[in-house]
Amino acid sequence: MPKEPVSSMIKRLLLAITLFSLVACTAQQQKEYIKIRGFTQGTSYHITYYSPEEKNLSPEIDVLLERVDSSMSVYRKNSVINAFNNSSKGYLLDTLLANIVMLSQQFNTETDGAFDITLGPLVDAWGFHAKRGEMPHAHTIEQLKIATGANMIELNDLYLSKKHPGVMIDVNAIAPGYTVDVISDYLEQQRITDYLVELGGEIRTAGKSPRNTKWLVGIDKPIENSISGEDLQVIIELSNEALVTSGNYRKFFVRDGVKYSHTIDPKTGYPVRHSLLSATVIDKKSARADALATAFMVMGVEKSKEWLSRNSGVEAYLISSNTEGEYEIWMTEGLQERIKD
Ligand code: AMP
Ligand code: MG
Repeated sequence: MPKEPVSSMIKRLLLAITLFSLVACTAQQQKEYIKIRGFTQGTSYHITYYSPEEKNLSPEIDVLLERVDSSMSVYRKNSVINAFNNSSKGYLLDTLLANIVMLSQQFNTETDGAFDITLGPLVDAWGFHAKRGEMPHAHTIEQLKIATGANMIELNDLYLSKKHPGVMIDVNAIAPGYTVDVISDYLEQQRITDYLVELGGEIRTAGKSPRNTKWLVGIDKPIENSISGEDLQVIIELSNEALVTSGNYRKFFVRDGVKYSHTIDPKTGYPVRHSLLSATVIDKKSARADALATAFMVMGVEKSKEWLSRNSGVEAYLISSNTEGEYEIWMTEGLQERIKD
């Protein structure tokens, strides 16, 4: 048999490699991602992930979501959080709530008190639990403030004690982000490396999207009562990071022409009133991003910028309104790099 010339062999080899890469590439693009959607915590969630074995993780995720809800929903009569809030001295928590309390106490210190889960009595008095805006009397606010502050609770293993019988915790500012972490961590335990988990607009991503690129996520324009995803301000590329937005444009009430947002300044006991309309935070985990986004809404633009200059690894996009009512944007350099043009 005549021997094939070396050059021809190389050509054939190159062709084979090219064909192989093409097939591999097409196979990548055709990867079927699994999608799960549903409702929990009074909002919707949506999970997209790639599983080579096509594992349907929906039943296990339902169990996790049910566990979170029965632990920390103030809207559920028999939840663990309500049992704590109704107790006079304290209550033995489940591991999820104990964990969220522990993290929240850390974030309280990190944000110099701006993020505070002990604002429960004030959130209640301002009518944000029952969604009916109320105007509490100044005297009532002063009274309720006595039972607030991170030092009013103490966690020993699973037992959370109160330093005042009126203490009530409210974890709404971190629960969605925390839940996204619970689900994401579960997916990682299952060796899922490409996923996007979204709950109530809070997002965590890993690996690649079905288009074999980074995940693309939008930041909403801060339009009052708008539907998330309908009117986007900007699109961000993410991978192995979480993105959370807090804003005063979804939950608020107007009384005598004054807008009262659902973010309460722990120092005053009143809803914050400044020009910041929304704060978006990118961080590794969504629980911290959620807490920081709320804290930035308390701090306002200048203090948030200062905080960000002192803390590396956190990116932010702040939208405020100027005196003409136009949007004014400020963002960290790292966030600018993630914007998809
Ligand atoms: P978010 O949308 O994540 O900023 O959460 C806002 C919710 O957190 C409010 O509806 C209250 O239930 C609660 N909240 C209000 N002010 C604060 C605060 N300063 N720290 C922690 N939670 C707060
Ligand atoms: Mg938050």
